[in-house]
Amino acid sequence: MLNSKLPDVGTTIFTIMSQLSAEQKAINLGQGFPEFNPDEKLIALVDKAMKDGYNQYPYMPGVAPLREEIALKMSTLYAAKYDPLTEITVTNGATEAIMATILATVSVGDEVIVLEPCYDSYVPSIRLAGGTPIFVPLTAPKNEGESFSIDWERVESAITEKTKLLILNFPHNPTGITLKENDLNILEGILDKHNILILADEVYEHIVFNNKPFLSLSSRPAISAKTFVISSFGKTFHTTGWKVGYCCAPKALSNEFRKIHQFMVFTVCSPMQYALAEFMKDSSTYINLASFYQEKHELLYNGLLKTKFKPIRSDGTFFLLANYSDISRQSEYDFVTELTKKHKVGLIPVSAFYKDSTSEEANNYLVRFCFAKYDATLNEAINRLIAI
Ligand code: PMP
Ligand code: GLN
Repeated sequence: MLNSKLPDVGTTIFTIMSQLSAEQKAINLGQGFPEFNPDEKLIALVDKAMKDGYNQYPYMPGVAPLREEIALKMSTLYAAKYDPLTEITVTNGATEAIMATILATVSVGDEVIVLEPCYDSYVPSIRLAGGTPIFVPLTAPKNEGESFSIDWERVESAITEKTKLLILNFPHNPTGITLKENDLNILEGILDKHNILILADEVYEHIVFNNKPFLSLSSRPAISAKTFVISSFGKTFHTTGWKVGYCCAPKALSNEFRKIHQFMVFTVCSPMQYALAEFMKDSSTYINLASFYQEKHELLYNGLLKTKFKPIRSDGTFFLLANYSDISRQSEYDFVTELTKKHKVGLIPVSAFYKDSTSEEANNYLVRFCFAKYDATLNEAINRLIAI
């Protein structure tokens, strides 16, 4: 008989809630994906790349024009120097880059620190590598107007001799919090004292609100020297279905990363890579994303103020959390299931981002809304929620 390598893993909450929304003909503000199509110009560029004959296996680490554009962006925005030849690898979405980083760095018995609530692919990837996930909770909001926060002392005290990797994801899914300069100072201090590596999941790098710059971990040389910086074009160009992402890391780290990448997927869809390279030459295609999403954040936030939900402002991402304790005392999972069925709005329970989704610690009466939707969709959802 087959011994499952991932006995505790079932279907992801994103798929479950999307299926329930479809079944119930509900508005799906659960799974994080944009409702809108990518720019016509980008679609035309894919078409052109196919007609130009870019249809066979591209170079294993990604096509040169795309790696060069990524290098240029990293240096322009974050003053980070990555050699496109040896330090940038194009991947099948951030998900592959996360798995490849973990397989490249974690061996049997190693510990990996993750912050809870955490994105769903981290822990199974750690387990497949034979590693042990060590969970450090973010501090949950206690009072109205507060959001989650990082307790760096708890992070540091979780580091042992076995710790190989610390996984950080900012802007953070699901809480929408970002790092401040002082967080980077503290992280520098931690890296100075402990011999660990960082996986920086920065897929929401271009969605940071209030005209704040995004503080990429690539922007601090003392941090970037030990970090795999991962991003995804899915979030940036409304192309989550294309599954194209990338990983920037110093040469020695990239070298090991590429060995895994080579045998997980070998390479990534060719016409998409050429098209993305051409499209991103115009930086307005990603620089304006933050203001585009901030308007939607405001629309949803202000709309939720008219309901019994208590929304929490996000600093970034296309997600927003809201507290429903004035409506119900059900568990988060039961609440979203009933909401989808009765009120036809699909959401994600924040508890799904915890190792034990039924625990008390995981259930803070919080749900996650995705606002990467047309205004009309958000308005209709708000109207349905006002009725509660
Ligand atoms: N990390 C985080 C935090 C995410 O939210 C997502 C997708 N929503 C991913 C990684 C995966 O990105 P991709 O679709 O490019 O694999
Ligand atoms: N990352 C997306 C989210 O948080 C979902 C991606 C997926 O379904 N795997 O909603």
